[in-house]
Amino acid sequence: MLELDNIGVSYGPVEAVRGASLRVVSGSITAIVGANGAGKSSCLKAISGLVPLQQGTVLFDSQPIHSLPPEDRLRLGIAHVLEGRRLFADQSVEDNLVLGAYIHRRDVTWKAQTAQRCDEMYRRFPILRQRREQQAVTLSGGEQQMLAMAVALMAKPRLLLLDEPSLGLAPKMVQAVSALIRGLRDDGMTILLVEQMASMALSLADVGYAFQRGRVVASGIASEMLRDMNFHQAYFGSGAAPSAVPG
Ligand code: ATP
Repeated sequence: MLELDNIGVSYGPVEAVRGASLRVVSGSITAIVGANGAGKSSCLKAISGLVPLQQGTVLFDSQPIHSLPPEDRLRLGIAHVLEGRRLFADQSVEDNLVLGAYIHRRDVTWKAQTAQRCDEMYRRFPILRQRREQQAVTLSGGEQQMLAMAVALMAKPRLLLLDEPSLGLAPKMVQAVSALIRGLRDDGMTILLVEQMASMALSLADVGYAFQRGRVVASGIASEMLRDMNFHQAYFGSGAAPSAVPG
């Protein structure tokens, strides 16, 4: 579904991503793991169009999309849940959901479709139904993460980019969010997940990529990468970063 070939992203003199290539297969969860500053978020931003490419190509359904503005990529089916959730804090849960569908506002059936879509989100994330009138800012961290995912799903994406969904969440909530991500994949969604919590990401994912200083240093079947990472940690200590997993 998605193919990055030799992409580069820079912020002035800072080379955040240097010649990274990866593929995301339809219906799978692909995880990008790596330490702080490894270039994971920049890679997602290059896919959704929030940062320009310095080099390389991004193909979606075999079509180049790297020159398209972000809204066109969203319309094609790529939704991005940014790190830190970025909700409309003062708006209600339901208003946030409706805004998530705004990209389709020109469809004649937009209103009916949006109402139906909200209902689907309330079924998938029942806590949001209970909170529907509350301002987003009043939700817990885990609830905000669920709302951010639901807002992205309102745009009817085929590819969901998730940046650090576990960030700042209590272990129980990490489990709940993990189960929701797995449920989405089981229902056919394609997911590209960025996580510093490598064990969580690799245990969810089908395929993994490890980033180090902007480069892909290892990739493979996620369960095998997880096993290798656990081996490294058991024998060489927790200092063995996920990016040290052999390829
Ligand atoms: P984190 O988990 O901390 O977000 P990451 O692996 O997602 O890390 P990026 O956020 O992509 O990494 O950052 C990669 C590099 O690019 C880092 O050195 C970071 O400081 C730098 N960087 C990221 N965004 C900007 C920006 N807007 N301006 C300048 N440098 C940036």
